[in-house]
Amino acid sequence: MSFDEVKAGLLEEITEFEIIDCHEHLGPESSRTSTEVSALNLFGHYTHLDLNTAGMSEADYGKLHDSDYPLEYRWGLFRPYLDEVRFGSYARAAFIAAKELYGFDDISDETYQELSAAMQEANTPGIYERILRDKCKIRCSLTQCGSTDLDSEILIPLMPTTNYCSITAWEQVVERARNLGRSVSTLDEYVALMDAGLAKWCAEGAVGVKSRCNPYPDGDRQQAVEAFEALRTGTVATIPELHPLNTWLMERLFELAPKHDMVVAVHAGMWGNFTLLDVKHMIPFFMRHPETTFDLYHLSFPSVHDAVIAGKNFANVYTNLCWTHIMSPTMTRQGMRELLDFVPVNKVFAFGADYGSQAVDKVIGHLRMAQDNIAHVLAERVTDGLMTSAQAVEIAHKWFWDNPVKAYGLEV
Ligand SMILES: [Zn+2]
Repeated sequence: MSFDEVKAGLLEEITEFEIIDCHEHLGPESSRTSTEVSALNLFGHYTHLDLNTAGMSEADYGKLHDSDYPLEYRWGLFRPYLDEVRFGSYARAAFIAAKELYGFDDISDETYQELSAAMQEANTPGIYERILRDKCKIRCSLTQCGSTDLDSEILIPLMPTTNYCSITAWEQVVERARNLGRSVSTLDEYVALMDAGLAKWCAEGAVGVKSRCNPYPDGDRQQAVEAFEALRTGTVATIPELHPLNTWLMERLFELAPKHDMVVAVHAGMWGNFTLLDVKHMIPFFMRHPETTFDLYHLSFPSVHDAVIAGKNFANVYTNLCWTHIMSPTMTRQGMRELLDFVPVNKVFAFGADYGSQAVDKVIGHLRMAQDNIAHVLAERVTDGLMTSAQAVEIAHKWFWDNPVKAYGLEV
């Protein structure tokens, strides 16, 4: 069989899978259905960056999503930039969504009004079910929106570690303690507060916490006690986020996570000064906390090789392809080739669309790109004689379903 035939066969099987969506920022559905939507929603979220980079001002970008301005005016602001961003992979997800969800072959001067009307008509309760479950075959989406109150069977929350292990002023300690009906005056009491906080999140359905790769300074207990006391007594008013106290607290949180069966998801790469978000910063923590399960996001773009080697060297690290397929299918394909070389197939998560509620339409676009990417790379292995098609399908199924179900202990 030719490569194209093998790929088409794999793709057909892979698109039949029910899947776990391993990372979103979807909030409660009402946050979507209570706002007016248009074709310009499809160029929000990640495409924001491409529009800015292409030259659109932040003020104009803000207007695109402000329905106080007429749609025609907003489209006019957007239109000059469409041709600059349309060939990028962020925009590809938008075009796929327009086609698959609303039946439009293009997003253009001719179609934007009708497409906007179709999107608004579909913007009603049940939209998550219709897009995520019916169209994408997603059983559940692991989401991060800073809340466990999601009112959905589909959404399963992860909560930010910074809610506990980032202290910059004493008032935060007081407020966090008050929220849990406690009072805190020592560092040990604060660690007990974090423990209680994790237990509460767990009881509310959270399956993990979200951290990020940063150049954290080393932090020992003595430094932590001194800084905590200095804040409590007012000797020092504020400390920076990257401070030995916060590193020390983060490591206590990493130790507490497995006690609550929580995974520590770790953002790696991409944004702004991406060198500060590199996976290399996390290696000492992966090594010091072997009992903690880490879900390493985004292949630490552009440090793909390093993310792959972290996945290879550390039994407690999973590599998660969330966000990668729309950042760059090219870089992701190369990363997946390296993952197949280096990393056991039970340690990879295939997909997380990584969108907020206003961009939920694009989950299907991202998913189709992920399915295509994975079928492509596995088909290479099959045509190279390194595996059979049946084995390739089995690997894809592990990546899309078995691995996240097992790592997160999902009851599905
Ligand atoms: Zn994200």
